[in-house]
Amino acid sequence: MRIILPEKLPPEAPEFENRPNGQAYAKDRIAVSATVAQKGRMTRHHFIAIAGAGIGGLTAAALLADRGHRVAVFDQFTSPKPVGSGLVIQPVGQAVLDHIGAGDTARRLGNPIQRMLGHEAENGRKVLNVWYNKRHGGQHGLAIHRASLFEAIYTAVKQRDITMHTQSCVTDARSGMVRLANGHAHGPFDLIIDSAGAGSPLSPLASEPLPYGAIWGTVDWPETSLPANQLTQCYRRADRMIGALPIGTMPGDSTPKAAIFWSLPRDGHAQWMADGLAAWRSEAIALWPAFAPFAEQITTQDQMTMARYAHGTLRQPWSSGLVHIGDAAHRASPQLGQGANMALLDALALARALDVATGDAALALYAKARRWHVMTYQAMSAAFTPQYQSDSRWLPVLRDRLLYPLSQVPPGPRALTAIVCGTMLPPLRGLGRV
Ligand SMILES: Cc1cc2nc3c(=O)[nH]c(=O)nc-3n(C[C@H](O)[C@H](O)[C@H](O)COP(=O)(O)OP(=O)(O)OC[C@H]3O[C@@H](n4cnc5c(N)ncnc54)[C@H](O)[C@@H]3O)c2cc1C
Repeated sequence: MRIILPEKLPPEAPEFENRPNGQAYAKDRIAVSATVAQKGRMTRHHFIAIAGAGIGGLTAAALLADRGHRVAVFDQFTSPKPVGSGLVIQPVGQAVLDHIGAGDTARRLGNPIQRMLGHEAENGRKVLNVWYNKRHGGQHGLAIHRASLFEAIYTAVKQRDITMHTQSCVTDARSGMVRLANGHAHGPFDLIIDSAGAGSPLSPLASEPLPYGAIWGTVDWPETSLPANQLTQCYRRADRMIGALPIGTMPGDSTPKAAIFWSLPRDGHAQWMADGLAAWRSEAIALWPAFAPFAEQITTQDQMTMARYAHGTLRQPWSSGLVHIGDAAHRASPQLGQGANMALLDALALARALDVATGDAALALYAKARRWHVMTYQAMSAAFTPQYQSDSRWLPVLRDRLLYPLSQVPPGPRALTAIVCGTMLPPLRGLGRV
């Protein structure tokens, strides 16, 4: 991999050397139908630009480089770095990480999660109880700090012949050209992949802002009675949600960490700042005493970062020569813990579609392979999120009195496990197994 800073490039300069692509991690194997495989004859190597070096973009870069495509990644950051706290990579997402050789590093740094458990603050009743694999204990969620996930994926990228353009804020992608905020233009490319996340300037997706977000922070995993293999949450109706997620370690630091979160109305951050830390701590500890050793580690308010969420899906995530993956194609609240998974699955579907088709046909194949999986998860996210994050009075009652008890009766537990694992539907329809 080589990193290119913008000042070294004259505008319109072709910036690629003709070097062979690294094949060291070409692990991904596709088992597709005969009809699709016949189209493989059309496959050729492309010259591909990727806008956004996040979870989906970097994974796509590695998968495509392994297939012999020439890949250039553009990101606005000064040096490659992750943003944010912890998340959970579900089993299907972990399988994609394995395809690029990033799974072992992610598993070494992250922490396996066997269960998600939530209770109502006012009466202590369980209202969420999902096991990954209660009986056999094999499959699990991988809770991980974003820095560790980034480290795992970026290490895989560095082992391949991928050109990385930092300080390169992409503003436009038309006619195969990538245009940057500094006036430079690069290309022409055969294909531009938009993986610039929820704020992508290349995506036509107009998403709907969700009424609730959350503040997130990272603390040391303390002396606590909470199990270190479980996401534990506490709710007051649907207008308060507190969580503690054991996320393993961060690069260069062997202390086990926790990601903690506290839901807030979308416009509630200024009020939270004005109320002060002491008020937040005492409210949090009164609602959930077990949260005390986590909350006590927050000594300044800037340790908690506000994240706001939006919901929306592109009907057609491509146009000629431009394709959207990850949050640029579909956004949802993190309630189901699927956003990173979706970005990873999109990257794999796109790479496999380019194995067996070319041009617009490949992009249409990618969209078709992902359509039902994405649509179903977006619909479930829209249905579940207000039960846990909204001002509704009746939804949490429905959740606690009807939906939770029903979810614990067979086949409820198994269905919940499949939803959380990302395997409710085949994630790559027609393009093989993950
Ligand atoms: C608080 C929070 C908790 C979450 N928890 C979970 C979870 O538990 N499980 C889960 O699966 N998902 C979770 N998600 C969702 C998940 O983080 C996203 O869905 C995922 O990161 C999307 O990946 P992506 O590659 O599309 O975009 P990102 O990972 O956001 O990457 C986008 C990249 O594009 C770059 N970029 C942006 N604009 C430009 C530009 N104009 N030019 C160049 N570069 C640009 C950015 O610098 C960034 O590097 C959570 C999200 C949030 C906010």
